[in-house]
Amino acid sequence: MTIAAPDLTMTTAASLDARAVSAWFSGHKVLDRVSLHMPAGRVTALIGPSGCGKSTFLRILNRMHELVAGAELAGEVLLDGVDLYDSARRITDARRQVGMVFQKPNPFPAMSIYDNVLAGLKLTGRRASRQTRDDLVEECLTKAGLWHEVAGRLRSPGGALSGGQQQRLCIARSLAVRPRVLLMDEPCSALDPTSTRRIEETITELSAEVTIVIVTHNMQQAQRVSQYCAFFLAEQGTPGVIVEHGPTEAMFGAPRDRRTADYVHGRF
Ligand code: ADP
Ligand code: MG
Repeated sequence: MTIAAPDLTMTTAASLDARAVSAWFSGHKVLDRVSLHMPAGRVTALIGPSGCGKSTFLRILNRMHELVAGAELAGEVLLDGVDLYDSARRITDARRQVGMVFQKPNPFPAMSIYDNVLAGLKLTGRRASRQTRDDLVEECLTKAGLWHEVAGRLRSPGGALSGGQQQRLCIARSLAVRPRVLLMDEPCSALDPTSTRRIEETITELSAEVTIVIVTHNMQQAQRVSQYCAFFLAEQGTPGVIVEHGPTEAMFGAPRDRRTADYVHGRF
């Protein structure tokens, strides 16, 4: 496989700032002036009922929203203070710097574990040495907590792994392009409790080098993995807004808004 001269120098976690972000689908407004600072090297959890725009917000953070037919956007997203939507910045660059892991693990099922990890690297430019690729695969699988389980069978297809292992393979694949932010949309919702715990441990370990923004419906999980939290809500046909955000401890221990208190205590 020929891969682009991959930048194998360590990148650092970057902050993300959403400023007055609004979103529409076919003219229907689903997010209304959402502003949120997501600090570098920290885990920010997005919580709130279904349909309030959390996934849409996440897609806006790595420019996937603009690929949806009929989707529109207003506002700004800054990556370490630089406009992610700057016309001079290529969408592929934005998406390399801000990776995404989805609810349903989506490795390439017939592709080997080894090639899955490298799949995000572009097939142009200089050829990386075998050793470089081997090292990158080992490093990313190790960070995703999967190395010891698959080291002896890197040529097996990704689809042969368990659901939890597939999700960790997807995390490894995301890490291979050296993202500065990793977005995770309910990454454990399809997984058993043991796999969920493993992913949570991985999130905690990764957050030092890559900023993490995670959508979760699991309030215990939000408290276990995040330092900051934002509560999204879309009331009676109105677009989604952030009702309250702040340090996770405060959001759960002393919420300022009654609706936040109701939600985090399961009264919704
Ligand atoms: P959440 O992730 O909080 O459940 P979503 O961001 O998925 O919320 O959805 C927010 C709103 O946008 C919902 O009303 C949903 O129906 C609508 N929506 C999401 N994706 C699309 C799409 N591709 N086309 C049209 N409407 C969409
Ligand atoms: Mg969603």
